[in-house]
Amino acid sequence: MRSLVLIGHGSHLNGESASAVYRYAELIRERGLYDEVIEGYWKEDPSLRQVLKTTASTDVTVIPMFISEGYFTETVIPRELGLGHQGPVPPGGVARVLGGRTVRYTLPYGVHPAMTDVIVERAREALPDFSAADTALIVLGHGTTRNENSNRVIYHNAQTLRESGQFAEVHALFLDEDPKVGTWPEVVRAARVVVVPFFASEGWHTLETIPEDMDLSGPVTVFAENPHGPQTVYYAKPVGTHRAVADVILHLAEEASGASTEDGDPDHAHTAAWATVMERARQGLRLGEVLITCQSGVFEIRHALDEGMPGHELQTLVTPEGVRDATRRDEGGHHRPVHTLRNLPRGWRAVLNEADLKRAIHYLYPAVVEETYAHTCHVLRHTPWPTTARRQTGIYAKVQKATPAQVEAVAEDVCGGCLRTRLWAGRKLPHTFFDGVPGGIPCAEACTFLVAEVREEVSGKRGGGHTHNH
Ligand code: SF4
Repeated sequence: MRSLVLIGHGSHLNGESASAVYRYAELIRERGLYDEVIEGYWKEDPSLRQVLKTTASTDVTVIPMFISEGYFTETVIPRELGLGHQGPVPPGGVARVLGGRTVRYTLPYGVHPAMTDVIVERAREALPDFSAADTALIVLGHGTTRNENSNRVIYHNAQTLRESGQFAEVHALFLDEDPKVGTWPEVVRAARVVVVPFFASEGWHTLETIPEDMDLSGPVTVFAENPHGPQTVYYAKPVGTHRAVADVILHLAEEASGASTEDGDPDHAHTAAWATVMERARQGLRLGEVLITCQSGVFEIRHALDEGMPGHELQTLVTPEGVRDATRRDEGGHHRPVHTLRNLPRGWRAVLNEADLKRAIHYLYPAVVEETYAHTCHVLRHTPWPTTARRQTGIYAKVQKATPAQVEAVAEDVCGGCLRTRLWAGRKLPHTFFDGVPGGIPCAEACTFLVAEVREEVSGKRGGGHTHNH
C-alpha cells in the first residue's frame, strides 16, 4: 500500500487555496497509481499535525504544493509533520520513520525540472507559432526580499530555456524585486513577447497586478510605440494550474520513493479504527453533527437535524467530493477551516457505498476517526498549550506571550463552538461517538485557527466576547 499526501497552505478565511490542491488530488486519484491520495493544510482541516494519522499505509510520500522553496516548505511543513528536519530539502527528498510509517518529504513541485516544459506549454497555448526568430519569453516570478530562494527557480528556468534556443530572448522578471516586470519595454527587444506567470494559481496577482504593471488589456495587447519598436504581448495562464502539474507531482513522488523501495504495509491502528466505524455505521451511527444509516449495504449520511425529512426535500449527493463541496461553507456562506466547529450546513443527504463512505467521513471530519479511536485505546498523545506555543515561528511566535488566562478566554470562545474536547487543556473525555456520544471527539492539540485567534488577542485586535466561529 502506498499513500500520497499533498500539502497546501489553506486559509482560515476562504476556500480557494484548497481548491487547487483538491483538483490535483482528484487528477492523481483517477490515475490509480496510489492506494490513496489525501490532502492536508497549514490552515485547514486536515491539519499538518493530523494528516499523517489519516493515512492508511505505512509508506507515505508528502509533496508540498508550493511553487518555490521557502519558509513553508523548509520550516513550517517539516516542523508540523514532526520530520525532525529544518532547512533546504535535498533533491531526493527527506525520509524518516515516524510512528511506524516511512514518510518521504519532497521538494515543492515548482522546483522540479519538468516545470520548464510546463512553461513552454503555457507559452504555446498563448502563442502557438512562437519562434526563435522573433519571440521573446518572459518568465515572471513573484520575488520577495524575505526569501532568497523564491527567485532561484525563475532564474534557473529562464537560463534553461535560453540555452534551449527556442526563443529569441528569455528574461526573468519579478513583481516584487528587481528586475521589475514594469521595465519590460526597455529590456525586451523582440516584436512578439510571451509572458508566462510562474505562479501557483490564478488570483489577484495574475488577474490584476501583472496586467496593471505591464499595461496589458487582455490575452493579447499591441504596443505601437515602444522604445524598440512595435510589440505584441501574449499573456499566458499561470503554470501552477496546468494539468501537466499532476505528472510533475507523480515524478517527484517516484523520485523520492527510490527504485528499491518495497510497498508499505497497511497501518493496523488505522485499519482497526475504520473497521470499528464501519461496523457502527451499519447499525446507525451519530458522528458529530451527522447521522449515518445503512440499508441493504447502501449508506446514507445527512445532518442529524434533518433526521426524518423526506429524501426528496434534501439535495441528494452521490460522491464523497459532492459531500466535500456541499459542506465547505456554513449556512451563512462562510468558509469552514475547522470542520469540527458546529456549523455544518443542513439540507443535503449523501447516498454512498462503503468505500465512498470512508472518503466522505474523511472530508466531513478529517482525522476524527483515527484520533478518537486512538483516544479510546489510550494512545492519543496530547500536546499542552505551552509546547504548541513554543513551536510557533514567524508572525505566530508572539502567542508565546499569551497568559494562561488569555488562552483560556479565547479557547472558551472559539472552542465553545467546536465539537472537540480540549484534552490539551486538561479536559477529560470519558465517552466518544464510538460509545454513542455524537460530539465525543478529542482535541489533542490547539489547532492553527485557535493559535491565530490567540495571536489576535495578544495583539489587542480581538474584540471582547466576539465569536469567530460563525
Ligand atoms: S483547538 Fe478548539 S477549535 Fe481548534 S480543534 Fe481544538 S477544540 Fe476545536
